Amino acid sequence: MAADNEKTGVFDASQLNQAKCPDCGGTGELRFDSENINENFEVEKQTIIAPCEKCGGTGFLKAV
Ligand SMILES: [Zn+2]
Repeated sequence: MAADNEKTGVFDASQLNQAKCPDCGGTGELRFDSENINENFEVEKQTIIAPCEKCGGTGFLKAV
């Protein structure tokens, strides 16, 4: 049991040491609202989701 508690404590501590990525807000994804004109000249709205390059898609910045 002691070992289990120790593992959990280490895991929580490492999570707390990680800072949320300011670029994506901790989601690991960047969303862009985009409007495209389709072949019928109608405006199509779409949301483009791209992985955040700053944190590598993890949502957290590694503590240095
Ligand atoms: Zn990010």
